[in-house]
Amino acid sequence: MEPRDIDGDLTEILISEEQIHTRLAEMSRQIEADYAGKDLLLVGVLKGAVMVMADLARELHHPISMDWMAVSSYGSGTTSSGVVRILKDLDTDLTGRHVLIVEDIIDSGLTLSWLLANLNSRGPTSVEICALLRKPDAARVEINVKYAGFDIPNQFVVGYGLDYDEKYRNLRSVGVLAPHVYAPTGGAAAS
Ligand code: 5GP
Ligand code: MG
Ligand code: MG
Repeated sequence: MEPRDIDGDLTEILISEEQIHTRLAEMSRQIEADYAGKDLLLVGVLKGAVMVMADLARELHHPISMDWMAVSSYGSGTTSSGVVRILKDLDTDLTGRHVLIVEDIIDSGLTLSWLLANLNSRGPTSVEICALLRKPDAARVEINVKYAGFDIPNQFVVGYGLDYDEKYRNLRSVGVLAPHVYAPTGGAAAS
């Protein structure tokens, strides 16, 4: 049990630390097989993907490089704005590279479809996607997620890199945020 789980901020643990690591190991074996004999550039999307990146990269028995991008599609709320901005770009030239985008979660898929087009325009040999979590709406956009960890229900989740208002990223598991945290009721929260 993690200290914050018992604060009442989570309604349930959706995916345990152990489940995450088992799944990341399976995905890593697949990635190793698919990229055998090829150098691979992992592109992590800050900040949510830091935990997935750290654990996936260490699980991979494969030569990899890492780079990071920061984009913004959500504010501090829980719904997508549909607007993507680059906050930090890559340092790496993608020409001729095999690129694997490492993401925490795909919800509407807006962020990723934009990112795919953006990275594909930089001359890479290949660009694929690895995402730990996928929500139901992601099925409605035409994105081929080559490595998907878990399909989860349409709930707002936190932990393992995922935040609400920059908090909860350090939880080791993925849990459902209790509605009272982001939609407080009672007189003090009237506006
Ligand atoms: P999309 O563009 O696919 O709708 O959303 C992508 C980004 O929104 C994710 O990388 C993540 O930062 C954020 N996001 C989407 N769903 C959730 C969620 O359930 N919890 C949290 N904490 N962030 C989410
Ligand atoms: Mg993300
Ligand atoms: Mg966030």
